[in-house]
Amino acid sequence: MNESLTIGDRKFYPGERGVVDLPVGRLVSHAELDLRVHVFRGKKPGPRLFVTAGVHGDELNGVEIARKLIAHKFRGLKGDLFVVPVVNVAAFLLRSRYLPDRRDLNRLFPGNADGSFGSRIARTLMDEVVGQCSHGIDLHTAAGGRINLPQTRMADRVPGSREMAKAFGAPVMLKAGIRDGSLRASCENKKMPYVLFEAGEALRLDLPAVTFGARGVIRVMRHLEMLPARKKDQELPSAFCDSSRWVRAGVGGIFRALIPLGRAVEVGQVLGVIGDPMGNEESEVRSDYSGIVLGRTTGSLVDEGDALFHIGQTRAAPERAEERITRSAEEVLPDLDRPIFRDAHADQ
Ligand SMILES: [Zn+2]
Repeated sequence: MNESLTIGDRKFYPGERGVVDLPVGRLVSHAELDLRVHVFRGKKPGPRLFVTAGVHGDELNGVEIARKLIAHKFRGLKGDLFVVPVVNVAAFLLRSRYLPDRRDLNRLFPGNADGSFGSRIARTLMDEVVGQCSHGIDLHTAAGGRINLPQTRMADRVPGSREMAKAFGAPVMLKAGIRDGSLRASCENKKMPYVLFEAGEALRLDLPAVTFGARGVIRVMRHLEMLPARKKDQELPSAFCDSSRWVRAGVGGIFRALIPLGRAVEVGQVLGVIGDPMGNEESEVRSDYSGIVLGRTTGSLVDEGDALFHIGQTRAAPERAEERITRSAEEVLPDLDRPIFRDAHADQ
């Protein structure tokens, strides 16, 4: 019971909390770049969970979720929690998704201590944090120019991942493939149960997304028995999507969305309009799929073939999924004085 945990040059004993700055390397300015890790050790043993944000440097909702977690008391914590608010500090400085050498950190895992700067960040995170954990949660937003409905993603290949996603209670759970070199792929290779949370858009704080994320992490901790259980947690089933497809622009032009996030759509339904910038012709964007709108472009200028609406396929009727999403939104709404899924671009 007196087992110490070493991270960087610090030892933590059960019941201890603190912050460690793990040196990664020097930037062009000669400034040292550190990976900051907040460590929470329970007095009693249990799972060891990591929560990471900012793997993409322009994704702020996860950073805010991490900040909320750091402020949490975690009374009665069993096991250990590592929170890394900004994994990709080099990209964060640039307000960019990508590293200074334009690489995507989330394609460089598990990394290499003698590799590129990003590869060293990945290796440090793997060796000091992920490698010491039994479970993981990675927080993301949509890439630049897109917005996502709050959703958890998992590949369903490692036992326990689906249960974690269920416990998280995001409006939607999406079964999604895994990219080589991603943090998620490294966790899968370690057979580590793992959930990815996606919500909102890059470079913009979205308070409902942050609320869903922070509550989701706490719910997962209760599910893992790291925190005392609450009956209420079972009352928030996510809508489940087996797969997803993009509806693309049939022509180029000026795009207007007519359908907000979280809405059920049918094949052939009009989702938006693309106007000819040189005349007054307009063409409708019709859905090729039935399902739920999980994400969408936020751009108004589109070329033919651009991805416009991300549609999740549900096994249940899409209308039922929409009801679930609306219910889960209403759970968060009383705290907030504005529409749940920030979607100012949609005309409805
Ligand atoms: Zn991301």
